[in-house]
Amino acid sequence: SGQSAKALAILRELEEKCGAPVGRLRQVADAMTVEMHAGLASEGGSKLKMLISYVDNLPTGNERGWFYALDLGGTNFRVLRVQLGGKDKRVVKQEFDEVSIPPHLMVATSHELFDFVAEALAKFVSSEGEDFHLPPGRQRELGFTFSFPVRQLSIASGTLIKWTKGFSIEDAVKLNPFAVSPQVGEDVVGELTKALERVGLDMRVSALVNDTIGTLAGGRYYNPDVIAAVILGTGTNAAYVERAHAIPKWHGLLPKSGEMVINTEWGNFRASHLPLTEYDQALDVESLNPGEQIFEKIISGMYLGEIVRRVLCRMAEEAAFFGDTVPPKLKIPFVLRTPHMSAMHHDTSSDLKVVGTKLKDILEISNTSLKTRKVVVEVCDIVATRGARLSAAGILGILKKLGRDTVKEGDNQRSVIALDGGLFEHYTKFRECMESTLKELLGDASDCIVIEHSNDGSGIGAALLAASHSQYL
Ligand code: ADP
Ligand code: MG
Repeated sequence: SGQSAKALAILRELEEKCGAPVGRLRQVADAMTVEMHAGLASEGGSKLKMLISYVDNLPTGNERGWFYALDLGGTNFRVLRVQLGGKDKRVVKQEFDEVSIPPHLMVATSHELFDFVAEALAKFVSSEGEDFHLPPGRQRELGFTFSFPVRQLSIASGTLIKWTKGFSIEDAVKLNPFAVSPQVGEDVVGELTKALERVGLDMRVSALVNDTIGTLAGGRYYNPDVIAAVILGTGTNAAYVERAHAIPKWHGLLPKSGEMVINTEWGNFRASHLPLTEYDQALDVESLNPGEQIFEKIISGMYLGEIVRRVLCRMAEEAAFFGDTVPPKLKIPFVLRTPHMSAMHHDTSSDLKVVGTKLKDILEISNTSLKTRKVVVEVCDIVATRGARLSAAGILGILKKLGRDTVKEGDNQRSVIALDGGLFEHYTKFRECMESTLKELLGDASDCIVIEHSNDGSGIGAALLAASHSQYL
């Protein structure tokens, strides 16, 4: 019928606009490398902030003692305590607790977010067992993973550059400038420390790290070949180990190690080569941060399901794809989450039963035909494939910056990239596509490049960095 022909036309147009053939991915990778250079050259020199982390030494395995970590960055936050036993024993013991962030605190109007976090941490501390042996008189120390862009002033201080991933706390500042913390420009550690004091918890924040830095540190602890970390979760970002002399904007003393970990903040990357669609454009315009985090908005878990929703919505409106009326639920932004999309995409049943159930349960669209369900799966596939292939291009960009994207005569050094985040962990088709695309891009060099899942490396990594920056060393 004319209706399904129109729906198929929309589908084919989507496929064409999302296309990411190898040639285009190479252009994206090259642009990424160029922007990395520019971001390292001068402050504000690029959309890539290339933030200096003040981590110039990564964990060695010799770290010892009891340490805490706090990971705040998206949908959940985690608190963690570890006992580090040195080279042979490594992580002797680890305990954690996970708390979901109540959505109203993501747009909070007071100290609420950090107070909530401090209270959860205090509760966790109160559950310390008999075997938690901090030497007498010694303060508890914490590694704080804060997964938003921060301009570091030292390893244990830094000011918030902006909120991302649906946090919109600065909007509240406009209403009441005295109410919110941390605000953009405020010291994140100072604000957390004040919140800890308010709940009466005596604890020192010894290291402030981004989740990519934590993942890199956690990965390196177990594998000395780890040179970069990538997060594919609610948002996306990458960090890597740079040669200190290759950072022109760094005017401090060169670190003894000769190295400095850089937080690229690649979520804010954009380039003319990115395959963007009308759906991305509309999503961006209607987002909390229009014009920003464009790479993140086509790759990461917060947005993939929403892009699919927008495509289906247009099919419903212009091609009566779900019948004569547009299903009202389909018009609600972010109603279709990436885990739902992933579940539909992985449906292997012959009648696409999962797709049918999801459409019914989430969008209240019942009695869908197999043909309709197939189109829905195709939409998921196109959107996920674009994101996965672009993530691979981003990784190639980093490898190019380090000169590790080609095989060199007599050099078979391995480069390991630590990957983490819910999208990478749970969206199998996304992960497989990203990995195969990276192989495709690297050719012969792919034998020396390894993608490793660093399961919650960021929490352990933050605790390790707290240990190596302890006040008692
Ligand atoms: P964060 O990035 O918030 O720190 P995670 O790394 O745990 O947290 O990632 C959570 C994100 O991962 C979710 O927002 C969601 O987009 C994505 N995700 C979680 N589970 C799945 C799933 N089963 N399939 C696809 N994506 C998932
Ligand atoms: Mg995280």
